Amino acid sequence: MTLRSASCPGCGATLDFASAATVTVVCPHCGGASFRSDVDLEWMGKVAEVAPIASPLSIGASGRYDGVGWVAIGQVQLDHGRGPWNEWCLLFDDGRHGWYAEAQGETYLTFPVAFDAAALPAWPATNAGDAVTVDGRAFVVAEVGEATLVGVKGEVPQGALPGSKRRYADLRGPDAAFGTLDYGPQDRCLEVYVGRTVDPAALGLAPEQAAPVEKKVAARRLACPSCAGVLELRDPESVRVVCASCGTLVEPTSSGAKALGKGAALKAKPLLPLGGKATLAGVAVEVIAYLVRSVTVDGVRYPWREYLLRTTKGAYRWLAESNGHWALLDPVNPGDVGRSAGGPVWKGVTFRHFQGGKARVDHVQGEVYWEVEVGETVKSDDFVSPPHLLTIEGSGREVNVTAGSYLEPAAVAQAFSVRVPSPSGVAPSQPNPYVGHTGRWWAAGLLMLVGLVVLMATVGGTRGGDAVGAFFPGLFVAAGLLLPPIVVSTRRGNFEVRRWADSDHPIGGGE
Ligand SMILES: [Zn+2]
Ligand SMILES: [Zn+2]
Repeated sequence: MTLRSASCPGCGATLDFASAATVTVVCPHCGGASFRSDVDLEWMGKVAEVAPIASPLSIGASGRYDGVGWVAIGQVQLDHGRGPWNEWCLLFDDGRHGWYAEAQGETYLTFPVAFDAAALPAWPATNAGDAVTVDGRAFVVAEVGEATLVGVKGEVPQGALPGSKRRYADLRGPDAAFGTLDYGPQDRCLEVYVGRTVDPAALGLAPEQAAPVEKKVAARRLACPSCAGVLELRDPESVRVVCASCGTLVEPTSSGAKALGKGAALKAKPLLPLGGKATLAGVAVEVIAYLVRSVTVDGVRYPWREYLLRTTKGAYRWLAESNGHWALLDPVNPGDVGRSAGGPVWKGVTFRHFQGGKARVDHVQGEVYWEVEVGETVKSDDFVSPPHLLTIEGSGREVNVTAGSYLEPAAVAQAFSVRVPSPSGVAPSQPNPYVGHTGRWWAAGLLMLVGLVVLMATVGGTRGGDAVGAFFPGLFVAAGLLLPPIVVSTRRGNFEVRRWADSDHPIGGGE
């Protein structure tokens, strides 16, 4: 394609192309979109204005990434039902086109790479959790979905018609590697993009060109569409909130709130109050949601409770409790989890499979960052490397990983200034791991047992003689006798860099 300027078929204005590879161009004068061929422009019609989504970029903005200058020449907006996000087309001085995406709180920069479509899974057969190799690198499919292109501006090197569908599989790789398999509207992969999550600052955007980004409000008040009670949102990322007055599950929208149904009866009282603040394992957190989840094994329901915590930096943590035993877990980038014959490997530690099952959401209060539904189930697998735990949870469309450790009940009590019940021992109905199905409860008891051995060794070795060191042997004996259960629990949601930014895992931390 050699055409570098043409008349807009809609209004006659002269359109100059920044890129020789441009396929779709939107006229800044009349807002009409045209597809470009070798000889002229084919008029596609007027397109809706792009939605005003806060971004430091704008068409024409420029900067320098990794030593190479770039200019933003195009913008597309996509939506998979949770509100649109921006993808900016950057034309680099070396002739490459890069895509800078701002989706769900994360930002990525990717570049098209050569690929063999026959070696990649077809879209309907792509499942979250699958291993995929592209550009010679190993990735795991983290999310599979279909988005609608809802807006386009400037010029982009592909057909981009509002209303068109785009099937995709998002990939995560070690460290911050990120990729996308783009299937367009079809089943066979059309384009592959590989890059990484980047901090917006890494784009080297010229400061005078950076558009001011409005700060999101810290808290928002909405009226419950069902009972008119006040819904106070503690997290601007929340997409579901349960009315504390009537229990209605509500979707906050830009224009107000939409009732979706019951979040479940409100009689369940969380031990840690919603809105409760604490410093836990050195990180300041606020309780924003309370969930009751369960697995059912041989007709017996095993419930546990989960508290969603939000840190002051906007990261999420989970505090899970069962029978008075606690675990603190953080989201993990699924791309950082390796595979081995012995089980998943994370931060150099191999985790053994303990148990899998279908985990159901029985009850929810407060607000969450994913489209929670009471009754939803996901396949959940628990892995342990005492005293650490790793959970992998998948719906086929999305895979989520969390990792964490046992937490002393006293630490929870002290952090939240609440009384917590004493951990109780083994339930009579508890399945025996040696005669078939392993139980979450047994697994957890063993985990705690071995965890205590490690703690004893650590504490005894470094602070031998103090009260803590002297306390552990007694607890160890009790744990050995009772095998008390703790819960290892999982949840679904998005994985965002900043969401695990605050994670403070002991693994890899110099143990
Ligand atoms: Zn025009
Ligand atoms: Zn209400």
